[in-house]
Amino acid sequence: MRKVKKNLNDIPQRLRNCNAHLDRIINERKNTGTKAIQAQFNIYSGLAEDVNSVKYKLKNLYKGKCAYCESIKDDMTVDHYRPKDSVSGGNKLGYFWLCYEWSNLLYSCSDCNQIYKGYKFPILGRYFDFTSKSSAELKTDLNKLNSNLNKFEKPLILNPEEKNFSPEKYIKFNRDGKPIGIDSKGRGTTTILDCGLDKTILNGRRKAKLDNLLLYSIAFLIKNPDKYTDEEMVLEFKEMLEKLKCKISDEYTLFYKWSLKNVKEFVYDNPILRKLPDTGKFKINLKKAIEEKFEVTF
Ligand SMILES: [Zn+2]
Repeated sequence: MRKVKKNLNDIPQRLRNCNAHLDRIINERKNTGTKAIQAQFNIYSGLAEDVNSVKYKLKNLYKGKCAYCESIKDDMTVDHYRPKDSVSGGNKLGYFWLCYEWSNLLYSCSDCNQIYKGYKFPILGRYFDFTSKSSAELKTDLNKLNSNLNKFEKPLILNPEEKNFSPEKYIKFNRDGKPIGIDSKGRGTTTILDCGLDKTILNGRRKAKLDNLLLYSIAFLIKNPDKYTDEEMVLEFKEMLEKLKCKISDEYTLFYKWSLKNVKEFVYDNPILRKLPDTGKFKINLKKAIEEKFEVTF
């Protein structure tokens, strides 16, 4: 997960054009109560290749990565942060008035969106009672991210577009790629659980990316240990550490942030480095590179 800055005024044209359709959905839902809404997929989503689609715009904002797990996959979807159809354990009718709301649409893989998150939207406050609101009211302040509705309900699932969002306040990782919630309100823990961020396959992918980077970087040193002076080796290790500062478009940036924050545990003590020849020279120079680069005291 990483912070995403979405311009809430830069609303895709297709969402701007759906006012009449949205009115129909709101009126139907308010009048009939339980009828499933007929939200039009091509309005809020469309094809990722279609430059006019909402999905295309979200893909660019999210650098092609899932809002929750940061994976880049083939089956990316448009997620309704507040579920549009119903909310398990909460408002049975869901947030139908937010089905075309730009601030409610996130880019997500189908695993996080459909298999795990689904109709879940746990909160700390009270669920908003829409029945007393007019259609016009539902379409005004109540549908914006960071609006009063957000403060009133206090959602537990993290949203990368929140104001002043820092995912590292909520989720940390261990060296095996396993995410752990750390905030006292339980937002990190809830997000991990409800979005399936602790899946074995996902933990393995995070861990493998780090391990592969370390392996790739030390492979040449293993092959020719005597070719390098201590200074050259320290330099090589520093370059390897630099690569841990990945680009925002890379997968699993939050995991890499934790790798850098805990570089002794994640890199120096990483079991993958046991593959280094036991000359001591490698580890001494790696320790030196880490100390110089991160001012870490061993
Ligand atoms: Zn995902």
